[in-house]
Amino acid sequence: MSNWKIPLADTSIGEEEIEAVKDVLRSGWLTMGPITHSFEQKFAEYIGVKHALAVTNCTAALHLAYVALEIQAGDKVICPSLTFVATANAIRYTGAVPVFADITSTDNLNISPDSIRSKIDDHTKGICVVHYGGYPCDMENILKIANEHNLYIVEDVAHAPGAACEVQTVLHSTSNTNAMFKRCGSIGNIGCFSFFSNKNMTTAEGGMLTTDSDVLAERIRILRSHGMTSLTWDREQGHSFSYDVVDDGFNYRIDEIRSAIGLKQLEKLNGSNQNRLSIQKMYINLLKTTNEISIPFIKHEGVCTPHIFPILLNQSNRHEFMEFLKTKGIQTSIHYPLIHKFSLYQRNYRDVKLEICESIEDRMVTLPLFSSMSNDNVYYVVDAIKSWFSKNHD
Ligand SMILES: *Cc1c(COP(=O)(O)O)cnc(C)c1O
Repeated sequence: MSNWKIPLADTSIGEEEIEAVKDVLRSGWLTMGPITHSFEQKFAEYIGVKHALAVTNCTAALHLAYVALEIQAGDKVICPSLTFVATANAIRYTGAVPVFADITSTDNLNISPDSIRSKIDDHTKGICVVHYGGYPCDMENILKIANEHNLYIVEDVAHAPGAACEVQTVLHSTSNTNAMFKRCGSIGNIGCFSFFSNKNMTTAEGGMLTTDSDVLAERIRILRSHGMTSLTWDREQGHSFSYDVVDDGFNYRIDEIRSAIGLKQLEKLNGSNQNRLSIQKMYINLLKTTNEISIPFIKHEGVCTPHIFPILLNQSNRHEFMEFLKTKGIQTSIHYPLIHKFSLYQRNYRDVKLEICESIEDRMVTLPLFSSMSNDNVYYVVDAIKSWFSKNHD
């Protein structure tokens, strides 16, 4: 489909998804109904939570998370600046203020617990963690901070469906568990997933919220569909004739077509995450002796689901480097331009200084990574990189 010899990302849609979509189209029921219900149940089971609620996209999921947690104008939510802009935009939808924290180090690009701690004040209501690139955040320390300061945790799990980390502390509880692996999205109050087409699993556009709280799940269910107490599907089923409106809701519903794709993609997720991990390991083995770059997350604790493969150049000659790879048909990208540096944000964040992420903002490049990437594709990218450095002695 693309003109790139090696695109940055690719989808893994097969005949199973195509057949599942045909079945929905033939069934005569297209909007949220039994297939979505089944997708939600399977997803909740997979993540290890009581409730999963499917929505239009992850941005909507994040918005609903903040509304359900009653984050309001004047409140502050701490989040990373090195993430997709939706992470912070969704905080602003509520009138609350995103407060940006730094990353941990140039090896670990996840939000730093120490930086989070330094940003807390009387207005802080929550922390949004992003498991950057599919590498779990230091949830044990972040849980401790949340418990000390009575803060909510929203997990942006857009990169990390299937990732897991070891935790002992339980959110908003004084009792600890034995150290155990928990899936990302089951550790904070609410997890928010994206099924956009370049993510580890896709429904084209789509998202999911996960939570163990019955109260939050019920609130989210109502908020997702106009604040109404029943769905068109419930009325079709004869479960109700009318409805009440009990909350300031939205239309953030997914549909049966997307849910059918999601069910098939979920079945493939462990396999495709495994492929992503093998490709990441292969890149690391082939590039670790290249002195002109460094590679984050080489040793990272927990179960990782590499979503992207970022590297750091030693020099700030990124533009030439990316142009050279383009001439070889290799698509690269930048994950991410820092949010606090965007024009919209600069007005209010001119004085913000985040030392570590600013030290790498001009040196980050993301190389191609997708589950169907072949060994030959990886060799091709690595050879191109090595030939660039052999010609440019810096
Ligand atoms: C993709 C992404 C989102 C937004 O997801 P959509 O489903 O496109 O709304 C949010 N956060 C992060 C970290 C992402 O990568």
